[in-house]
Amino acid sequence: MFVLNETHNPDLRSWVSAANLPDSDFPIQNLPFAVFRRKGAGELYRGGVAIGDQVLDLTAARAAFSGDAGTGAQACSQPTLNHFMSLGAPVWSALRLALSRVLREGAPEQGFLESCLISQSDVEYSLPCTIGDYTDFYTSVFHATRVGSLFRPDNPLLPNYKWVPIGYHGRSSSIDISGQTFKRPQGQTKAPDADQPSVGPCKRLDYELEVGIYIGQGNALGEPIMLDDSDQHVFGFCLFNDWSARDIQAWEYQPLGPFLAKNFASTVSPWIIANEALLPYRAAFKRDAEDPQPLPYLSSVKNSQEGALDIKLEVLLQTQTMRDKGEQPVKVSDSNFVYSYWTVAQMVAHHTVNGCNLRPGDFFGSGTQSGPEHEQGGSLLELSRGGKESITLPNGEQRTFLEDGDTVVMRGFCEKQGAARIGFGEVASTVLPANS
Ligand code: MN
Repeated sequence: MFVLNETHNPDLRSWVSAANLPDSDFPIQNLPFAVFRRKGAGELYRGGVAIGDQVLDLTAARAAFSGDAGTGAQACSQPTLNHFMSLGAPVWSALRLALSRVLREGAPEQGFLESCLISQSDVEYSLPCTIGDYTDFYTSVFHATRVGSLFRPDNPLLPNYKWVPIGYHGRSSSIDISGQTFKRPQGQTKAPDADQPSVGPCKRLDYELEVGIYIGQGNALGEPIMLDDSDQHVFGFCLFNDWSARDIQAWEYQPLGPFLAKNFASTVSPWIIANEALLPYRAAFKRDAEDPQPLPYLSSVKNSQEGALDIKLEVLLQTQTMRDKGEQPVKVSDSNFVYSYWTVAQMVAHHTVNGCNLRPGDFFGSGTQSGPEHEQGGSLLELSRGGKESITLPNGEQRTFLEDGDTVVMRGFCEKQGAARIGFGEVASTVLPANS
């Protein structure tokens, strides 16, 4: 579907000088989409593209595009990107190519387009699309095994795990954009030694380091998406913090799975990194020889050769005390999406194998992306070994789970020899005290 092309050329430079800085998240090879408006200007939200430290306002710039690219730019003038996402990969690709050409050094459109740039420091973002259905997967076998050993010491990894890309249907209403603040959830919990449950503020509030996946073009009910066709449907990726109330989860999750432990807040980063932009970072999908090999509908040469994605992921924490002293967030763990036990194509193929229809703007969480090492845990539940060991921050503060005022920041980027570095920006959000 997508092929490496001139938009991926690492030697390309933009006339937006900040895009050429070596540590920029948004070089000309990235070109991610968001929905934005100027802060405090009373404007309508509309689609934009990141280039360096600027946003290209696609509504203002649309005269620079024609054909499929023009159709795409026009669609991005709306306050959500659902329509653009529904137009399909040929339109996404055409707009990406046109953007790459007009933002390059020497492009004759520079004079006009300079007037269509707004500094990222002057804008605010909304959700990039109306998220219809939200599905959260569970694709890190390292996370599943470590969490399983905490909840079920004698039976950590259930026998279906290595056959089925496990997931549950979540709730989209509480998904919000980076900058989200939310009250510590209340709920029903039961301590292991208690006779009966009680209700009150969550005592084991946690984050989950996930990759978010936006579906573009959908499929008709009853018509599964084949594994090798997933690129026609996967619009792009973001960072996703799937906040979790571990004490509520432990009491409620059997027999039907997560419920109120998971639907009080989830936060996405504002920029959607196009599926096509990540082509240089596709990686081989490997399955240990002693593990079950995927069933035929989850297996293909293409998926084995390039199904995985090499995305470096980081979690940082800034406590209220640190913020009061002007101290920056500190890193608590890092991981990589390449460790995922299932690929995005496998998630799409499995989700639709029964005929389930996906729609433009549907959203998948990848599940917590923990790596093989303890230090690569994508949640505090793992890093604190179920709350038994606190982690010590550089300023001496300790955490097993999150405290009120904690801000969790997640970052992601792709980097390797022979390709341009592509960043995801960040997702940051803050825990407020529970209702009293
Ligand atoms: Mn999750």
